[in-house]
Formats: sequence, structure tokens, C-alpha cells
Amino acid sequence: MTNRICFFLLLVLISSCKDKPSEEKKPDQVFEEPMETFDSVPLEKPEPQKTFLTFEGLADTTFVRLADFSDGFAYDLRYATENNFLKEKVYDCAECYTRVKTAKALIAANSDFHDQGVRIKFFDCYRPNSVQYKMWEIVSNPQYVANPDKGSIHNKGGAVDITLETLEGEELDMGTDFDFFGKRAYHDMTDLPQNILDNRKLLKETMEQHGFWSIRTEWWHYNLSAGSNDKVADFKWECD
Ligand SMILES: [Zn+2]
Repeated sequence: MTNRICFFLLLVLISSCKDKPSEEKKPDQVFEEPMETFDSVPLEKPEPQKTFLTFEGLADTTFVRLADFSDGFAYDLRYATENNFLKEKVYDCAECYTRVKTAKALIAANSDFHDQGVRIKFFDCYRPNSVQYKMWEIVSNPQYVANPDKGSIHNKGGAVDITLETLEGEELDMGTDFDFFGKRAYHDMTDLPQNILDNRKLLKETMEQHGFWSIRTEWWHYNLSAGSNDKVADFKWECD
């Protein structure tokens, strides 16, 4: 009997020592989700939303800074640098101001240009009459600088000197640089490569559709028709 009991107990012991099937069964294959990579997307802080001023309540003749109303323009304000035909900097800082009516027409024209993949780039905008005197002192020749006593439409806030560049910032070929005084800059100079004629045509036709007129000898200069009768001004903008 004792032996039997012993044998039974031994059996019980052996069976209880058997490995229990593991509850944490390892899968044959381990699928790991590939890590998402963002090689081509650098982490950038979101740009703060730009807010622009509106023309509401402003008189048509008020002087405004174009960049306060739109960020769709490009600027290369040459008279705030020495890179101009005077070889002198005549503005304390580079700002583009015009009267409200000119600004409105420019924004409307620029919207049309954007639809065609280009935008206006400014060389000069409103020019205070005192700066006209400064320019006259450097070059006293009415062929190149308007007589400050009479003033120019730039002094009235109704003229701009512009070209076009692509939305990626590449300037369109207009055949000459800004302030090139010679026949090649004339609108009636047609002995030019077709792409230059096309670029000038795009600039001129679009500006004319928005109330601007051009002068024969400078492809870059545009006057707002409604700005010719405004007074010559000497409003000066602030520089930081
Ligand atoms: Zn001009």
C-alpha cells in the first residue's frame, strides 16, 4: 500500500512539474509598422498670420505704404541704394508709398499679373518733392530728371517705375535695365527679340487696363490717369 501511495504521489508530483503552456505565446513572425519618416519635410514653425490694412475710410489722396495692404509685390527700390543712374542714395530708407487710388489700381493690376504667374516689382514709387530737388542737384538735366519746381507725377503719388518678375523671383527680360536712357528703352522700339516685346506688352496692356498710361521713352514708367491733377507733395515717410 505504501508503495502504491508513494507511486501515486510521485505521479502527481511529476504531472504538476510539467511545463504549463505559456500564455505569452510568441508569434512566429513579428510585424513591425515601419517608422514614418519625414525626410523631405523639415520641421518649421507655422508663420504667424499676416494681417493687412484696408482702404476703408481712407481718402483717395491719402498716402499709404503699399506693403501694409498686400504682400504680393516685390521691391528693388533703387534710389534707396547707390545702384541707380545718379550713383547716389537719395532716400533714407526703402519704402514704397503711393496715394490710395494708385495703391488700389496697383493691387488690382497685380492680381491680374499673379493669374499669369508674375508680379510687379517696384524700382520707385511716390517721391517727395524735396528728393526731386536732391536729384536735380546731382543731375540738372530735364532729359533725365524732372524739374522739381514743376514736379513730376512721382511727386504727386501717381507714378511708379516697375518691371515684372515671376512668382519665384526671376525678373522678366525687358531689354534694358531700369533708367537706361536710350532708344532701346522706348516703347516704339520694336527691333527687339520677341520675348522682350511680349514681356513689355504684358506689362503695358495690363497696366492700361487698370487706369495707367505709359510714356514713350521709358518702358518702366506708369502714371495713374486719375493721379495727374493731384498736388505735388513733400510728405516724408518714417525710417526706423
Ligand atoms: Zn518714373
